[in-house]
Amino acid sequence: MQNGAIFAFAGSGLDRAAELRVAPERLALLWQAPETRVLPIWRGRPLFAGDVLGWLAPDHPVLEGAPQESVFLGLEEGAARFALDLSHWRPEEPAATPISLFDAGEQPHPLLDAPMVFAEMRNRMAMMSAREAELAAMARALGEWHRSHGHCARCGAATLPSHGGWKRHCPACNAEHFPRTDPVVIMLITEGNSALLGRGPGWPEGVYSCLAGFVEPGETIEAAVRREVAEETGVPVGPVRYLASQPWPFPASLMLGCHGKATARALTLDPVEIEDACWVTREDMADIFAGVHPHIRAPRQGAIAAGLLRMWLADHI
Ligand SMILES: [Zn+2]
Repeated sequence: MQNGAIFAFAGSGLDRAAELRVAPERLALLWQAPETRVLPIWRGRPLFAGDVLGWLAPDHPVLEGAPQESVFLGLEEGAARFALDLSHWRPEEPAATPISLFDAGEQPHPLLDAPMVFAEMRNRMAMMSAREAELAAMARALGEWHRSHGHCARCGAATLPSHGGWKRHCPACNAEHFPRTDPVVIMLITEGNSALLGRGPGWPEGVYSCLAGFVEPGETIEAAVRREVAEETGVPVGPVRYLASQPWPFPASLMLGCHGKATARALTLDPVEIEDACWVTREDMADIFAGVHPHIRAPRQGAIAAGLLRMWLADHI
C-alpha cells in the first residue's frame, strides 16, 4: 500500500537529526550557515510561494524581532531547516480569519513579494510534496504547541523552550514538557457493498467524511473505533483492522486510519455529534469522487478519509 502517494503529511523519511537538539552551539552555527532556510509560520499558516513552501534565509528582515525561538526541523541533504513563529506580527490589513476549512485565508506581508503569502495548508496539501508536507506539519504542530504551552501544567510558572524547540522546561519546578500528539481514530466502516459516511454539525453543505473521534485514555484503537461509531450512529462494528496513519497538525492530531466491518445497518444518530450519516454504495461513491453526485461533495484530496475511501473503491481493502 503506497500511502505516501495518496495521504498528505504521510511521512517522507526526513532526517530529523535529533542528536543536534542537545547541541545548542551546533544549532547556532547551523542557523548562520548559508544553505540554511527558515519556514515562517503566522497564526498556524505557513508561508507559501505559490504551491511550494516559502523558505527564507535566516537573516531575512521578515524574521527580525520574533519573540519565539526557532524550532529545528532537521536536515535536508545536510542543509538545516528551521521554523519560526511570526504570530506576533499584526498586519495593517488583516486577512479574514477562515470561517471554514475551505476558506483560502491568505495573508500577504509587506516585506515579501507575490506570490508569497501565509496560507491555510489544508487547501494546498494535495499539491505539496511529501517532504514539504512533513516539514510544514512539524512546523505548524510545534508552533501551536509553543504558543499554547507557555506555562507549566504542573505549577503554572512560565516555561522556556529548549532542545531546538522540542522541549519546554519549567525553571520553577524543574518539570519538562514535550510536544504532544493526540491520537484520533478515523474509520472506513463497511457493510456489504456500502460504506458509512457522516457529517458534523455546521460542516459546509455537501461535505461528508468517514467517522472519526479521539482515542480516550485507557482505550485501544479498536475499542475507540467501535465506541465512536456506536455513539455517533448506533451501528455495531465487528472486526477492526488498522490500515494507515496521517499526522494532522490541526492542531496536534495523529489520524489512525482503520477499517471496521459493521454487523448491522440501522442508524440511530446522536444529534450533538453528527448532523447526518448514510450508507453509500460503491456506485454512488464513484459518482462522489467524479464530482457528479447530487448531494455529496468529493472528499478533500490529501486527507486520509479520501485515501481510505479511494482504496475501498479500488477494492484494495
Ligand atoms: Zn513548573
